[in-house]
Amino acid sequence: MNMMEVSRLHGLRGELRQSESMAKHVSWRAGGAVARAYWPADVDDLAAFLRTVSTAEALYFVGLGSNLLIRDGGVQATVVFTHWALRQISLSSTGEHNIEIFAEAGIASPKVARFAALHGAEGAEFLAGIPGTVGGALAMNAGCYGGETWNIVATVRTIDRQGVVRQRATSDFRIGYRSVVGPENEAFVAATFCVPRGDGEKSRNKIKELLSKRIASQPLQQPNAGSVFRNPPNDHAARLIEACGLKGTRVGGAEISRRHANFIVNTGGASAADIEALIDLAQNTVGEKFGVKLECEVRIIGERA
Ligand SMILES: Cc1cc2nc3c(=O)[nH]c(=O)nc-3n(C[C@H](O)[C@H](O)[C@H](O)COP(=O)(O)OP(=O)(O)OC[C@H]3O[C@@H](n4cnc5c(N)ncnc54)[C@H](O)[C@@H]3O)c2cc1C
Repeated sequence: MNMMEVSRLHGLRGELRQSESMAKHVSWRAGGAVARAYWPADVDDLAAFLRTVSTAEALYFVGLGSNLLIRDGGVQATVVFTHWALRQISLSSTGEHNIEIFAEAGIASPKVARFAALHGAEGAEFLAGIPGTVGGALAMNAGCYGGETWNIVATVRTIDRQGVVRQRATSDFRIGYRSVVGPENEAFVAATFCVPRGDGEKSRNKIKELLSKRIASQPLQQPNAGSVFRNPPNDHAARLIEACGLKGTRVGGAEISRRHANFIVNTGGASAADIEALIDLAQNTVGEKFGVKLECEVRIIGERA
């Protein structure tokens, strides 16, 4: 049975594509294809789709691809994109001290920051500069400037490979720095954020300030995936890479940013292999010079070409 027939047979309402090039779906604008990609119409449709995918098959959820690299040889897997359909955001409750915001996984993280400010809350500003989705922020425990996603999570909603949706408590997950370990084979479909009440105007100003800081320090004009490496304890990956004299080093179309050494930019036509070669170079050079093993923050999947 081909994919169109599978789709019709199961009454799916989303869009299913085969051999989908991922370069246009990841912020690095580089890399290979996935065997199948699905854009669900909504959560019920997603559940119906998941029941058609064999549990033997690799499955990935993808938001805005701002922390992801698919190797040039592609990946034999199914990818579910959340950002077309899972886009509800609402105020779920307001209390004396906090407000609660319900956001589906496909909502862009900056929208949560602005929504919180609009409703007179302070504490979600850090999300304004993280160019991914709520699902990606939950999976990565994304954070910056002292804020971390899971610090403001009240509950999450997950979906498993049989399409069963569950409400889960934060205690069901082990949360660390850019690390989240939870029940296996469950992906995020939504979260409820609990944000302290505060001054909305102050929050909006803080968002502007944080965004200006980013514009001044990050190479936002060129395709990138944010910080490539986690910061090692009590140090900064950017400082170590810069101290090795690697800023501006190029492989093919990829370059270790001259502006921020923990960023690798696509200067045009970079392959995933070019990017990965620079990742390896930075890791090896910093390892040799400082004895520090830099760990990749960016998720890399697939086969080399
Ligand atoms: C310019 C720039 C600046 C950045 N700054 C920061 C920063 O300050 N702090 C920071 O932490 N990150 C930063 N990042 C990295 C990135 O934006 C974050 O990690 C973001 O949260 C990823 O979200 P995404 O939707 O793009 O995820 P994707 O890149 O699509 O996916 C990342 C990972 O999350 C998984 N995932 C995605 N959605 C789901 C889901 N619904 N359920 C389960 N798993 C899922 C994917 O399978 C993958 O493993 C930056 C990136 C860029 C390009």
